[in-house]
Amino acid sequence: MDNAKNALGATIAPSMTSSFSNLHLAEPLARAVADMGYESMTPIQAQAIPVVLTGKDVMGAAQTGTGKTAAFSLPLLQRLMRHENASASPARHPVRALVLLPTRELADQVAQQIALYAKHTKLRSTVVFGGMDMKPQTIELKKGVEVLVATPGRLLDHIEAKNVVLNQVEYVVLDEADRMLDIGFLPDLQRILSYLPKSRTTLLFSATFSPEIKRLASSYLQDPVTIEVARPNETASTVEQRFYKVTDDDKRYAIRSVLKERDIRQAFIFSNSKLGCARLTRALERDGLRAAALHGDKSQDERLKALEAFKAGEVDLLVCTDVAARGLDIKDVPAVFNYDVPFNAEDYVHRIGRTGRAGASGLAVTLVTDHDSRLVADIEKLTKKKIEVEPAPMSDFRAARQSRGGDDYRPRREREYDGVARGAHAHRPSRMAPRAANTDPFFDRPYEAKGAAEAAAWDSQRAAPVKTPGIKPKRKIAALFKAPVAAS
Ligand code: AMP
Repeated sequence: MDNAKNALGATIAPSMTSSFSNLHLAEPLARAVADMGYESMTPIQAQAIPVVLTGKDVMGAAQTGTGKTAAFSLPLLQRLMRHENASASPARHPVRALVLLPTRELADQVAQQIALYAKHTKLRSTVVFGGMDMKPQTIELKKGVEVLVATPGRLLDHIEAKNVVLNQVEYVVLDEADRMLDIGFLPDLQRILSYLPKSRTTLLFSATFSPEIKRLASSYLQDPVTIEVARPNETASTVEQRFYKVTDDDKRYAIRSVLKERDIRQAFIFSNSKLGCARLTRALERDGLRAAALHGDKSQDERLKALEAFKAGEVDLLVCTDVAARGLDIKDVPAVFNYDVPFNAEDYVHRIGRTGRAGASGLAVTLVTDHDSRLVADIEKLTKKKIEVEPAPMSDFRAARQSRGGDDYRPRREREYDGVARGAHAHRPSRMAPRAANTDPFFDRPYEAKGAAEAAAWDSQRAAPVKTPGIKPKRKIAALFKAPVAAS
């Protein structure tokens, strides 16, 4: 089968899925599914939707990218249809379903999907997460909503401020539960769950069923049906995985060489820490590459801006931490770089799942230093694939660096610059797709390569002039020779 599995073991191939019409969803929901263009159910949907429709608790091993959101939200909305009403009174719209997620981006993304599935119904939904003003969220909550999507901390703020009452909740979804525990949300979750009616349906989704997750499930789920479609140790056959031996100093050269040699236009680069992520982004920018950082210390506004810039093709490299990137449904990015080998082998599988999805080929490059052998062995063990660590392709960057040797007395920063002008593409027109209300088309569309006519920033070196030995350039050479650069 051609497009059998994506990196998470999910299959969106029609041959392995079944039709939505078998579910006999209410007409407004069936219409919304048709509007989305879904032809058939993904495996998690085929398994989970009939179970959730019965009202049973579910413990699901599935990750973002598998169609998990529809797997819980469609049956949940179906069950809530009996409460649908057009009354303006908030009292007629109490929270009936609560969906908890670990990060703002994920909460936003899931809320957008739920709004799309519910758009032809009178059921209301909203999202609350931290890092944003509480007031607009409070106004929405006070109007009344049937489905509330939230991150735990901000939800507790609203509960304490008495902006929301949860005593009529019938459904609670703990999504990306393993990540919520990793982040330390357990006490918050326990508090939130204590506010909910005992008689309810609880759905828990997690990438793994670790002992902690099992403990959480045994405390809060009743007789759950276990559904497992995603094997967290599976990597897609469509992803070419490379492990390159580097020193810390060579990591950026290696990335640039790969981008250039493979003619890759956009990529995700993963770093193990927020600080590392910020530093790397700055360094890449200094190198003349168009990079943006996505990590937990960035404000919500900054994160959304970084995503928008990546979507618009104004940024080529999105430098992320695992937590910030987890769950972002950005499909088929041509390449993923592990600037740092992840501490947790499962994160390796998640990271490289960003590329080579649904049959598209992708490249996953992991940069390995002398200190990383244990982490690489962990990945080998988890993926059950022999890993060969090869010499990194350093193409002309290393050659340039070595040949410059002694006669290059420019400061290191300038030496690494290599003629790639910062903001060299600042004159590119914005290709921001028009946004429909309440939906972000970026999340629904596969990755699209930017216009072939435009050179990637790392490619602009081709156009860079030959430097005369012994002459120390005072200004960035590429900037002198390139097309006019708009002031930025
Ligand atoms: P999720 O795992 O819920 O984040 O979904 C990942 C992506 O798959 C989203 O862009 C959904 O719109 C899309 N999707 C969900 N269900 C289906 C389906 N049955 N067929 C095609 N795409 C789907």
